Amino acid sequence: MKTPLQVLQQYFGYDSFRLEQSNAVENVIAKKDTFVLMPTGGGKSICYQVPALVLNGTAIVISPLIALMKDQVDALRINGISASYINSSMSSFEQNDTLNQLKNGKLKLLYVAPEKLSSENGAFLEMLKEVNISLFAVDEAHCVSHWGHDFRPDYLFLNGIKNQFPDVPVIALTASADEITRKDICKQLNLQNPLVLISSFDRANIKYFVQPKQSVLENIIQYLNEHPTDSGIIYCLSRKGTEEMSNKLRENGINSAFYHAGLLSAERAKVQEDFLKDKIRVIVATIAFGMGIDKSNVRFVMHADLPKNIESYYQETGRAGRDGLTSEAILFYSYADVIKLKKFAMIEGNEEQSDLMLQKLQQMSDFAEMQKCRRQYLMEYFGEKHGGNCNSCDYCLSEFEAWDATTDSQKLLSAIFRLKERYGKNLIIDFLRGSKGVKITDYMRSLPTYGIGINHGKNYWQNLIRQLLNNGFLSESNDEFSVLKLNEESKLVLFKGKKVEFKKVKEHAKAVVVEEMENDYSTHDFDSNQDLFAELRTLRREIAERENVPPYVIFSDATLLELSTFIPNSKEELNHISGFGAFKIEKYGDLFLPTIVEFCKIHNLSSKITFKKPKKNMVAKSTNKYEAGTFTTTFQMFKAGNSIEEIAENRNLAINTIQNHLVNFVTVGTIKPSELMDMSKAETIIEIAKNQKLPSLKAIKEELCDGFSYFEINVAIAYYKSYQ
Ligand code: ADP
Ligand code: ZN
Repeated sequence: MKTPLQVLQQYFGYDSFRLEQSNAVENVIAKKDTFVLMPTGGGKSICYQVPALVLNGTAIVISPLIALMKDQVDALRINGISASYINSSMSSFEQNDTLNQLKNGKLKLLYVAPEKLSSENGAFLEMLKEVNISLFAVDEAHCVSHWGHDFRPDYLFLNGIKNQFPDVPVIALTASADEITRKDICKQLNLQNPLVLISSFDRANIKYFVQPKQSVLENIIQYLNEHPTDSGIIYCLSRKGTEEMSNKLRENGINSAFYHAGLLSAERAKVQEDFLKDKIRVIVATIAFGMGIDKSNVRFVMHADLPKNIESYYQETGRAGRDGLTSEAILFYSYADVIKLKKFAMIEGNEEQSDLMLQKLQQMSDFAEMQKCRRQYLMEYFGEKHGGNCNSCDYCLSEFEAWDATTDSQKLLSAIFRLKERYGKNLIIDFLRGSKGVKITDYMRSLPTYGIGINHGKNYWQNLIRQLLNNGFLSESNDEFSVLKLNEESKLVLFKGKKVEFKKVKEHAKAVVVEEMENDYSTHDFDSNQDLFAELRTLRREIAERENVPPYVIFSDATLLELSTFIPNSKEELNHISGFGAFKIEKYGDLFLPTIVEFCKIHNLSSKITFKKPKKNMVAKSTNKYEAGTFTTTFQMFKAGNSIEEIAENRNLAINTIQNHLVNFVTVGTIKPSELMDMSKAETIIEIAKNQKLPSLKAIKEELCDGFSYFEINVAIAYYKSYQ
């Protein structure tokens, strides 16, 4: 019998288990029941796939989403594992075929839709008794509970499993369960003394940013231009909003599409599939988009409008970075959205429900407004401890300075006092700033505090109110009017001269200003070869197209990033790349190696595989973030008059890395080719390129006489492409 670790390495190409995977696997192999709570992207599948390969017999996986089922099975087959699925979308001929394979013991894993279990009064479960079953895995297990957000009646049939198959271990997996749901799942599935494994919900590779909702479209376009190869999702509140945004992006040359529940289901399926297959770069969607989005290389999730609650926000942002590479969540926030959503939250005749929704909305806006580590807020919201200082949210990345807010706080509190604690923040701010609006009565104008805050803008006062509220110097009524109220602390400030000292943002960290960041990925000390990365992505797409699966099913971005960083030159060396199991090395090694070897030859590089640390972990530097930061530095140094050699020396990077950076600026037109080479040479190169059907560096070089470097060819071609 193979050990779990051997199976992980051989079939999946990973060198170690993550989080609680190892405990889950051991427990299932010991034939005991298991409950696994892990965040999206945590790696739940491995928890049952590895035991399925270690144990004898067939693993039955219950999974509610037909699209995901197919992806999972494709991914397993690509790793050389015999797996299949059965659901009602298949013809009875296909179903029978699969059942025959099952009965003949040909399958290691069979994915089953829940409705299959309940159909014909449980005939399917009855049939399974004739088969050697290794384990039952219940994916998305919260669907069995009324407490969960996605209850599915078909799942209730699962509570019979333990009675009918007392010796077969059951493993339940979910990414979304509070304590009540968790207990309910174990009860509903009748799990026997289960080992409960709960992993942290922290998604360390996602960076959280909140930005004011101003010039949203411009900000998004700038972001997309700074991350030219990144793909992601932009959420909007309304259907119309998604269409407008997507059209604007397209007008700006960005490959995007919109998605909402108003589209025909065939249209929706097409958009989703094109996104999965990397044919559409950006999806602008309502919350209808997401269930079943398993695309691993979603690099960013933006919210152009405020989500209704933290749960939605976390689930939606959680679709970023499933492959473990650095990804970004960007929320564009304005208080106006809170007011808009409050109206939706009020459900007539259901006060209890309305209160709950308002409270959740309040927490969402607290998250956006609070001066606190965003990650800490999120973790604490989900009941986990977190010390803050995550160093990867806008708060932790911003610079602050001390701020003595005593005098202004006194002005504000006294305005509230004078107006008898009867108004919300907007009126108080208008009053302080001496507004002439109709809401300000003559009586109000006659008060001495009227207009004493004119020296500061609205935003300033809003921020101060927020800080006073957050720090307990002020209270707010808990209804839809949010009336500001004084409390004991306010009175100390007003009447006893208590000091109010806050921090003020000196420089706000924004997602669009991209800096290089430290992290502990093993490619950290190395520059990945961007051009090679791009070539490998193209290659992956071609293979995926041929095999009719999404590209990330073939290899994740993380794997391609490792390839382009450590440039392995042989099958032995591929062994060290995460994601290359024995089967994939045989199947795809010869497809990927020539491109890498060729690249090394052209750029005079040799394999760096020996530099690779054996254990790699989740958090990785995104190529593109890296690209933007490092490219910009090179660009600035070049424009400041440094030679390529000087930049390379100074930055401790290879000369051809710097050259590659510069070529990119030729492509976008910010560096002229004449700054890098003799233009008559460039013309010669372009002439040759024009005459070739598929210009390739190598073919051009062969046609040229000596005295042309690859760098010059690159520059000339980039220039040629830029005006073509
Ligand atoms: P979940 O179902 O929890 O959302 P998946 O099972 O889809 O997560 O796994 C998320 C990603 O993590 C996949 O790309 C998977 O291949 C990768 N992964 C899982 N386990 C490991 C591991 N031990 N080492 C490296 N990558 C892993
Ligand atoms: Zn933080």
